[in-house]
Amino acid sequence: MSEESHRAVPSTPGPQSQGRADMTLHCVRCRWSAPLSSLAWRCGQCGGVLDLANFSPALPARDVLATRAPTLWRYAEALPVVEPREITMGEGMTPLLAVPDRPGVGLKVDYLMPTGSFKDRGAVVLAALATELGVSELVADSSGNAGAAIAAYAARAGLRCEIFVPVATSEGKLAQLRAYGANVHRIPGPRENAAKAAMEASGRDGVLYASHVYHPVFLHGTKTYVFELWEQLGGRLPDTLVLPVGNGTLVLGAYVGCRELLEQRLIEKLPTIIAVQAQGCAPLAEAFARGLDEPVKVAAAETAAEGIAIARPARGAQILAAVRQTGGEIVSISEPEIRAAQADLAKAGLYVEPTAAVCWAAVRSGITPNDSESRLQVACRSDLERGIHTVVPLCGSGLKSRK
Ligand SMILES: *Cc1c(COP(=O)(O)O)cnc(C)c1O
Ligand SMILES: [Zn+2]
Repeated sequence: MSEESHRAVPSTPGPQSQGRADMTLHCVRCRWSAPLSSLAWRCGQCGGVLDLANFSPALPARDVLATRAPTLWRYAEALPVVEPREITMGEGMTPLLAVPDRPGVGLKVDYLMPTGSFKDRGAVVLAALATELGVSELVADSSGNAGAAIAAYAARAGLRCEIFVPVATSEGKLAQLRAYGANVHRIPGPRENAAKAAMEASGRDGVLYASHVYHPVFLHGTKTYVFELWEQLGGRLPDTLVLPVGNGTLVLGAYVGCRELLEQRLIEKLPTIIAVQAQGCAPLAEAFARGLDEPVKVAAAETAAEGIAIARPARGAQILAAVRQTGGEIVSISEPEIRAAQADLAKAGLYVEPTAAVCWAAVRSGITPNDSESRLQVACRSDLERGIHTVVPLCGSGLKSRK
């Protein structure tokens, strides 16, 4: 087990890969692997996180894509499951808006997904996998949006669903979970306690731990965020992707998607990823600032950005490595900046939850870590002729957060 491989960023499949039946889950830390058809969600030997391997995704040509329906299933050849016609709700291909007073910045409106957050991208792919594998029940833990997405797609797929949430979860999010018919368990203590309870509940036969954090197939759903951007910008990516980070499902999904585009020579270089945390809970921003390879141990503090208040991100080392590989950085934002950004967006007709305002807060504040000019500021000023150079997601609806 080499230290090097432990820090490896999510692997993207090589040219030697074969068909769907051969796909495997493999440990990022040791040599352990299992077929995708197993219900494994972490390494059976060392407990490390798993990546998807032996899969050769390929994006069809742009003129072929242009003939397809505006859903994320237009990227069928790049997804590890077949389109589940009875489960899909037409998710994907969310709008990309220009920002009038900030030329060059685009807003990708992912809160228009069926359950109100970008988590639907991963959840629909995971639910499709569950159906292909014939499981009868999904178990998940979440601070809200991931649970809602899993619960909605479980309902459509006719699967039982158990969701474990921290007691502090917003009423609006709890109401949504219950409406989909999920059994909701409110777990006292920090967010990790909900995860532990879900892991214990998912040890039974026929049960898939549909974890957005652990199951690597979730990242192959969230990667469609960058495929859509690539199409929406006429076959290119912006220079800078500003992304929220808690457990890293959007950051790592975006990274996987960018790697795939690069390997297929559809882009020439990886865009810079600027990942954003809340100052109240910033284990990755602190590790980044100190040049560490693993997240710093922090006490979970109060932040209105409940969706990224993750004190111990399981894929923390992968997130740090991925962001560094893009030449990016991980920054953090204060509570007043989050509130101001949320209000600012609402005045522009865009109603998001606090978590979904952190990236806009980073752009507005022109983040200056270590008092030096950040890449973000540079990106915001750069060459306007090339059109949108920085994209910010609005990835969670304000309607359900009530905060
Ligand atoms: C889940 C979520 C995030 C953070 O995603 P991670 O996978 O934890 O990094 C950010 N914003 C919203 C609205 C979310 O639902
Ligand atoms: Zn292992």
